[in-house]
Amino acid sequence: MFQSLNNPKEAPRSILALDFGGTKLAAAIVHFGEREWRSHKRMLSPADADAKADLANMRSLIHDLLQGEKPAAIGISFGGPVDAKLGKVRLSHHVPGWGNIPLREILEAEFQVPVSVDNDANVAALGEHRFGAGIGYESLFYITVSTGVGGGWILNGHPWRGAGGMAGEIGHVVVDPNGPICLCGKRGCVERLASGPYMAAAAREELHKQPLRGEILRSLANNNEDAITGQLISQAATQGDELALEILQRAGWALGVGIGNAANLINPQLFVLGGGVTKAGAQFWEVVRRVARETALPEVNFDIVPAALGDEAPLWGAVALAQEELN
Ligand SMILES: [Zn+2]
Repeated sequence: MFQSLNNPKEAPRSILALDFGGTKLAAAIVHFGEREWRSHKRMLSPADADAKADLANMRSLIHDLLQGEKPAAIGISFGGPVDAKLGKVRLSHHVPGWGNIPLREILEAEFQVPVSVDNDANVAALGEHRFGAGIGYESLFYITVSTGVGGGWILNGHPWRGAGGMAGEIGHVVVDPNGPICLCGKRGCVERLASGPYMAAAAREELHKQPLRGEILRSLANNNEDAITGQLISQAATQGDELALEILQRAGWALGVGIGNAANLINPQLFVLGGGVTKAGAQFWEVVRRVARETALPEVNFDIVPAALGDEAPLWGAVALAQEELN
C-alpha cells in the first residue's frame, strides 16, 4: 500500500473541485471513482472582497488541501456568467473585479493541470446528473431558487450551454408581462416573483398595505420588517399565515409556469429543483407541480424532484466537469 502510494503511476488520481460562490469559497479533493471528499475546506468571502482577494483566499484553501500533492485536474464552479469554452469569467454580480478574468488560464499556469470552469447553475446541473437526483437520466433541467433563480440543462447526458453560453436562464423567463419590474428591466420574470429577496420585498409591501394581516410572519420577524426573508415566509406559511402562503404560492405559480413552458420547448425527462426557496414545504411543491402540469401540453411528460446534493451540488459538479475534461 505504502509502496503504491509512492509510485506516481499507481497513486490514486485526485480531482480538485473549487466553488467561488459569491459569498463563500469552498475547495475539496476527491479521488477518482470515490464519493467522499478526501478533504474539504470552506470560508466566508469577506464583504469587501474583490476578485484578487477571492483568488488569494482560494489559493490558501487550495494549498492547505493539497499539501504539495498534484491533482490530475481542476474543476471550478463560479457564481456568475462564465464563457466555459474560453474558461473566462465574464463578471460576478456580487464581487467586483471579476470582469473578463481568464480563470482557467491563471490556474493552468499555476498548477500545470487541465482546468475547466463554468457557471454555478450549469455545474450544479452536472453534479445532480452524475451524483445526485438525476443519476441515470439522459435529459434534465436543474433549477436553483434562492437569492436568484438560475438553471442548467443536461441534454443527451451532457451540459447544453447554448450558442453563447447563455442557455438555461429560466430566472428571466417572463411569466407575467404586467408584473413588477425585475432587476433585468423586464416585468414579471420568474426570478422577480420566486426568489427569496423578492418574496421578502413583496411581503413587506403587503404588510404595509394590509396592517391587520400577516400576524404570524410579523411575530416570527420580531416585528422587524427588515428581518423578513424567504425562509421566514416559508416558515410562516407552514404555521398557517395566509399572507405568507399567498406570496409563497405566487412564487410557486411563477416557477410552475416557467417549468411548464420549458417542458413544452425541450421535453426533458426531469426537473431538479434546489436552493433555499425549494425547502418551503409541501404546499409550495404542490403548487409548482400542479401549475407546471397545467402549463405543459398533456402529452409532455416530466417529473419534478428536489435536488439531492444541497449546497455541495456545485462542488460535485466541478468534479464531474474536471472528469469530462480528462475523459
Ligand atoms: Zn428578469
